[in-house]
Amino acid sequence: MYDIETFYAGLVEHGLILPTGIRGGYGRGAVFEKILRGFNELVSRTAAPDGAEEMTFPPIVARTLIEKVGYMNSFPQLAGSVHSFFGNEAQARDITSRTQAGERWEDLLDITEVMLTPAACYPVYPVFSGLLPNGGRLVTVLNWVYRHEPSDEPTRLQSFRMREYIRVGRSEDVVAWRDAWLLRSLELLRGLGLAAQSDVASDPFFGRAGKMMAANQVDQRLKFEILVPVISEEKPTAICSFNWHQDHFSSKFGIRNADESLASTACLGFGLERVTLALIKAHGYDPQRWPEAVRAQLSL
Ligand code: AMP
Ligand code: ZN
Repeated sequence: MYDIETFYAGLVEHGLILPTGIRGGYGRGAVFEKILRGFNELVSRTAAPDGAEEMTFPPIVARTLIEKVGYMNSFPQLAGSVHSFFGNEAQARDITSRTQAGERWEDLLDITEVMLTPAACYPVYPVFSGLLPNGGRLVTVLNWVYRHEPSDEPTRLQSFRMREYIRVGRSEDVVAWRDAWLLRSLELLRGLGLAAQSDVASDPFFGRAGKMMAANQVDQRLKFEILVPVISEEKPTAICSFNWHQDHFSSKFGIRNADESLASTACLGFGLERVTLALIKAHGYDPQRWPEAVRAQLSL
């Protein structure tokens, strides 16, 4: 049985999620976090032989990076911008009186040099600038990301965590890596008792021109997703994505292979909250009652 309201109510009742009044911005209880952490560690163990370099970034990126990669052309509807107060004493008093009077006050703010990170891999590309070592590089990150898509669906969040791997190098190596991970991830997720299926996919590019970009992305098989039924049988939820960016990032950041040719990049991202919710939907609200084989893999 798939029903958004019943699932949400069950998650709250079992203390797995904690309502905050923000749509897509609920808190996570200790058990939810334990499942999420267990899955993240399983991913790390699975990928350990590849020897990825681990990097950690704050959940903000330079506004100039957002501008450079063209995020505001492609996904302005999802962006989150950080603003702050740069004014004088009189203007600060104006904010106080306006908030007390229940009036609008945000026109007294100005943009800062940062925006909220929209995808965990974004801060990594500038690090690759210049000549790559032979064979390219492989990096892993885990970060909170922001997307402005408020929703009552427990699987559609405004702020959530992405565990990503980012591969940079020659096109054929990068594509082979992505395709191998698609199979590896299907196996990993099915091994946890999830009814996982893969499919070609597209990003929610904005507007009419965006529709063409999305169609092109599908035609060229640039994006794949792994889908699992969580809140609907007919519309399964994407729990991880596999993207080949061709030279989109490498041309902007001057990333070249050891032989000076323009590099290619790909990334894969597990939506950690979505994987956690898919596991809860498949096995129930109490992990102590999950199949032993699943609990063992997740250290539950
Ligand atoms: P994307 O960069 O859009 O391919 O997203 C990477 C992964 O993050 C997806 O496969 C989902 O698992 C997850 N994800 C994307 N959007 C959301 C959202 N609004 N709420 C929760 N998880 C999401
Ligand atoms: Zn990515």
